[in-house]
Amino acid sequence: MKKAIIFSAPSGSGKTTVVNHLLSVMPELGFSVSATTRKPRENEVDGREYYFLDLEDFKQKVANDEFLESEEVYEGIFYGTLHSEVERLWSLGKTVIFDVDVAGGVRIKKKFGDNALSIFLRPPSIDILMDRLRKRSTEVEHQLQMRIDKAHFELQFENQYDIVLINDKLEETLQKAEDIVKSFIQS
Ligand code: ADP
Ligand code: 5GP
Repeated sequence: MKKAIIFSAPSGSGKTTVVNHLLSVMPELGFSVSATTRKPRENEVDGREYYFLDLEDFKQKVANDEFLESEEVYEGIFYGTLHSEVERLWSLGKTVIFDVDVAGGVRIKKKFGDNALSIFLRPPSIDILMDRLRKRSTEVEHQLQMRIDKAHFELQFENQYDIVLINDKLEETLQKAEDIVKSFIQS
């Protein structure tokens, strides 16, 4: 059966940390590599974290209807999931796991219905979220502010998700995430 797990949350909530943990302990999961027009961070590899596309290429793929969903997540920066990526993972027999923004997660859940489990990962508070983002040190200050502004908005969407998981103590979050995902795959 073609199944999918959707992890969404404001930037800095811990999606990457949780998804990477699940991938390391559950070989039956396959990470959906999104396409983006943002520049790679240090250590990011094309085709591993993202397919890094230029804007023209991205827009051409939108026009060709190649995306399951896509969005201008931040001003001038586009992200999206290609149909071909999901099909690639399903053809390998994997359950697809998505790390997408809150609006994208809601859209993917609507498309996949009961074949998908959507999980909203919530930081214990906005202050803790800001602190984690600052410590991660991957964004310059104006991009950091952009992410925090968006987080206030995104936190209103948790009731559109199947499950809300509060990411307070990391070890506990990882264990809970594992239990939730395993029970969904076995159902
Ligand atoms: P996202 O992918 O949602 O943007 P990350 O997984 O990059 O978030 O996490 C943001 C930062 O917070 C990272 O530096 C990560 O190591 C840290 N982090 C994640 N979860 C916790 C936690 N429960 N307690 C403390 N720090 C955390
Ligand atoms: P980052 O730049 O920190 O890697 O990601 C920024 C945001 O874009 C995150 O919230 C991430 O989940 C989201 N994102 C990544 N891929 C996609 C996608 O394919 N679609 C949507 N809607 N959001 C995505």
